Amino acid sequence: MPTPMRTIAVMILLALLPGFAAGLAAQAPAEVGRRDTGRAATITATDIARRVGIMAHDSMAGRDTPSPGLEKTASYIAREFDSFGLLPAIGTDFFQWYPLTEVRPGSRAGQSLTLRHSSGEYALDPSSDFISLPVGTAARTSGPLAAATDDVAGKVVVVRATSQTLGDRLGELRGVLDGGAVGALIALDAPDRYVDGVRLFFESKRLSVGRPEILQAPAAIVPLGSLPGALRRAIEHGEVPEGWTADVRSSATMRADSAMNVIGWLEGSDPELRDEYVVFTAHMDHVGTGRPVNGDSIYNGADDDASGTAGIVELAQAFATGRRPRRSVVFMTVSGEEKGLLGSEWYGEHPLFPLEKTVANLNMDMIGRNWPDTIVAIGKEESSLGAMADRIVAEHPELGLEVVDDMWPEERFYFRSDHYNFARRGVPILFFFNGVHADYHRPSDEPDKIDSEKAARIVRLVYLLGLEIANADEPPAWDPDAYRRVVGTGGD
Ligand SMILES: [Zn+2]
Repeated sequence: MPTPMRTIAVMILLALLPGFAAGLAAQAPAEVGRRDTGRAATITATDIARRVGIMAHDSMAGRDTPSPGLEKTASYIAREFDSFGLLPAIGTDFFQWYPLTEVRPGSRAGQSLTLRHSSGEYALDPSSDFISLPVGTAARTSGPLAAATDDVAGKVVVVRATSQTLGDRLGELRGVLDGGAVGALIALDAPDRYVDGVRLFFESKRLSVGRPEILQAPAAIVPLGSLPGALRRAIEHGEVPEGWTADVRSSATMRADSAMNVIGWLEGSDPELRDEYVVFTAHMDHVGTGRPVNGDSIYNGADDDASGTAGIVELAQAFATGRRPRRSVVFMTVSGEEKGLLGSEWYGEHPLFPLEKTVANLNMDMIGRNWPDTIVAIGKEESSLGAMADRIVAEHPELGLEVVDDMWPEERFYFRSDHYNFARRGVPILFFFNGVHADYHRPSDEPDKIDSEKAARIVRLVYLLGLEIANADEPPAWDPDAYRRVVGTGGD
């Protein structure tokens, strides 16, 4: 790990910068060091420690997405939001539910494909000759082979695909099966490397966002080369010969599920600016339970990211009890982050507050460990938010913090937390992050290791920054080059 920057030396350097010195001169001397901190004092180490203790408790079982522990965590956050007087984002509901598709690959022992013809019986090997597609429930079928253009009722339909057309053919399967076919085979004419990739994809457990097209009859992908010669040659010529039957058994299953983001907000005080939003995010989910380490199988995720989630609750409380800022402020704890930023992806596609009116996203993911005097703010160079954060820590020496650039660009952390789903849609972001550590994604990421005093100072910084963004005449501005890089061509 890189050594922390030395706060005092940097404070002296900052004081020598002309802009900073001019700022000081413009103020009445009595104000120096006594800047308005709003309700920052309500953000305390005791509260952070208590909230992390609740959310990262063993009883939450690591807050997997989806799981009862996640739902309990979400309910806790919603109750806190409600008690502060936040407005629910959807009617009377603080939960934004989103659909998930869960795929479980199933055992190879539960998968078989046997082709029969008067010339013989061909049992294909699930480890090399075919790839079972996930179905609604594990199932078995058999019937004569037929082309999709034939009368398919009671038949196992054979369609041909290449690496270019496999996606389309997969998309059409549901329709083929709904048309009365009892099963389907996709004969795949593609290089081995491509087939290996397809196998890896379908044989991994995965969770994706969105409602699945669930197949209700067994189907499999069969590389052309795995088919018996006569059948292969006919299919290569676009025909499905008569006299063949298939028996297909699948144990790979797919099911619909759902999870939630928790979203509450406070309306801004300025009639001109209240339809603009500052959005604060952290992810409340973690990785659940897993391989035991030293007898502990619960991956508590105290730093990742109960720390940031506790920060969101503290921010909500501070904003709710203080003077209302001009713009509206939105407090969001997402789920599915550990499964691939799923909750924030859903929000990005289904925003409850218009993204073009969302002037900033401040994201906190892992803010309770490592150096007491330094916090990384990824995205600092992308917009005016970076300089704003620097100025706030300079104006508030009581924070005892220095805000530094991404120290580990090679780790691509920029793409690994929820702010990314805002940034790529054009919202200026800062991502507050203390870096990883030996307990990262291990059962030992426990509440008693959290430096809640330091986390409280980071949350106060985020509060002061958010307050300033919400009250400023002008919204934060992208650096045009960064905008082109992150969002695409165009720029401001
Ligand atoms: Zn995280």
